[in-house]
Amino acid sequence: MKLNLYPIRLPLRDPFTISRGTITYQDSLVVELKHDGIAGYGEVTANDYYGHTITAMSDALNGLSEEDLAMCFDDSPESNWLHFSKRLGGDMFSLSALDMASHDWHARHSGSTLWHHWGLKWNSDLQSSFTIGIDSIEEMKRKLDADSGWDLYKIKLGTDHDLEIIRQLRQCTTATFRVDANCAWSAQQTIDYSQELQHLGVQFIEQPLPRSADAADKQRVLEESSLPIIADEDCQTEADLETCFELFDGINVKLCKCGGLTPARKMLTEAKRRGKLTMVGCMVESAVGISGAAQLAPLLDFADLDGANLISGSPTDGVKVQCGNLHMPARLGIGAELVSTALPQFLVQ
Ligand SMILES: [Mg+2]
Repeated sequence: MKLNLYPIRLPLRDPFTISRGTITYQDSLVVELKHDGIAGYGEVTANDYYGHTITAMSDALNGLSEEDLAMCFDDSPESNWLHFSKRLGGDMFSLSALDMASHDWHARHSGSTLWHHWGLKWNSDLQSSFTIGIDSIEEMKRKLDADSGWDLYKIKLGTDHDLEIIRQLRQCTTATFRVDANCAWSAQQTIDYSQELQHLGVQFIEQPLPRSADAADKQRVLEESSLPIIADEDCQTEADLETCFELFDGINVKLCKCGGLTPARKMLTEAKRRGKLTMVGCMVESAVGISGAAQLAPLLDFADLDGANLISGSPTDGVKVQCGNLHMPARLGIGAELVSTALPQFLVQ
């Protein structure tokens, strides 16, 4: 029984900007659970906004006991989740990587892919969007052009000229747009923008208002927006679900925020049962994280799993997202593996 941690630094193809700032590389932590000759993998990225560093997450995971580790292999990730949530002090980020590695190990141990192990049917119609970060309009056009061929683009907004960005990008492609304002808009702005955005071929608006905005404002946006409104920053854990069902048309679930595949699967299943739109998003992560999240495809209306497409080279291999299509490798579990020849150059000591 062994727990191995691989802290890696992933260089980005292009600097990536959202309404909160710009990054040129992404630090990430790959978790490997090994037992009975089988390795299960999970991944979580560091995130300054949510206050999670590689050191803190590594320390938390290295603090697990032999008994804890044995539980990962003896019991299901679902039955272990609450235990590890407590053991990791409620740190959903490190928990999500451990939970993914556990799911991967158990599915491999049973000789199955994870989605099949869960009893789900593969959703081959699902396509991922490709994200265009905030930049000058010329640069955003260049990025759209450099990754043409996708049917869906998620455009990050939150500037003082958001509609102009979409008008100009509309000239470049007939693809469907989704927009993510990352909390940058007011209620009135969202309602006003939604009409033109609908005419410009936008499918939905992700998180227009801040999480701290009044519920009455969110309610008004829900009622008066011409486009569906999807919760992201408002939908972090299972505890947020009821409020999101009241105030949004759908939810975007991120594994690192909710604590992994175990709660994500529950949240998405419940959202579908309640007639809400379902989406899974990612951070800028390598193929391990993307492969884990891709197992949820059967439960999704929308996918935003282009994280590994934004990095330059990778120490991992797994599900590939090419022009939006999800290609599953012929492997068990989540389908991911470490590329040992490439790993050393990405490892952070
Ligand atoms: Mg978002």
